[in-house]
Amino acid sequence: MRLTICWLYARTMNIYGDRGNVLALVERCRRRGIETEVVEIGVGEPLEPGRCDLFFWGGGQDREQIAAAEDLQGTKGEVLRAEIERGVPLLAVCGGYQLLGRFYRPHEGPELPGLGVFDAWTVAGSRRMIGNVVVDSPDFGELVGFENHSGRTFLGPGARPLGTVRIGYGNNGKDRTEGCRYRNAIGTYLHGPVLPKNPQLADHLIACALALHGWVGSLEPLDDALARVAHEEAVERARVERPTLRRFWPLTRR
Ligand code: GLN
Repeated sequence: MRLTICWLYARTMNIYGDRGNVLALVERCRRRGIETEVVEIGVGEPLEPGRCDLFFWGGGQDREQIAAAEDLQGTKGEVLRAEIERGVPLLAVCGGYQLLGRFYRPHEGPELPGLGVFDAWTVAGSRRMIGNVVVDSPDFGELVGFENHSGRTFLGPGARPLGTVRIGYGNNGKDRTEGCRYRNAIGTYLHGPVLPKNPQLADHLIACALALHGWVGSLEPLDDALARVAHEEAVERARVERPTLRRFWPLTRR
């Protein structure tokens, strides 16, 4: 079996270790004898229907988001939306996540249109939300990552969050939601990179991609001892560094 991982805006939206998510996906496939091809799809480059088995879209500053938002107006955005509707798994982190909502309103300049995959919208806030985050997800258990964003994302009535913030800010520092899910697309503020420290999330994306090729069953377990150490270390760091957020504090209280 061979999977094509399409890395959206790899050269321009890839901050706070996000490239590590692609490396984790490739390695977890390799250890199971699944071949992978990583295809970078940047601004101005075509997105062909049916080519990708999995999408990754990392974070980026407002400047790069403007270019990506523009690039997705028209056919390319329609193809990406249709692929997500087809069930192609996608992981989008922070800036990528924001542009899959209805819109992202940065500090300056015009509002950026999103693809509307997630029933969510984002408005830049006055302060950045930075630090290690611990999230309780009903589907993936305890997740840990690193957040660095000024955008506050709010979910519409139809949106399903990835999880609930235990430590940190998450979507907006007020309603304790983190991330958003739609079909097999996952948006999150968890940089880090998120997948090496949360192998269950990586395996979920790989299984969804394999299912597109008619595969059913469970993935062969891997030795995740190192991943568990990294995960626990990050959770401990979050506990120590963000005591004031141990009991969730809305942003307004700080
Ligand atoms: N520019 C966006 C924000 O600050 C996204 C940043 C990011 O991708 N880390 O919220």
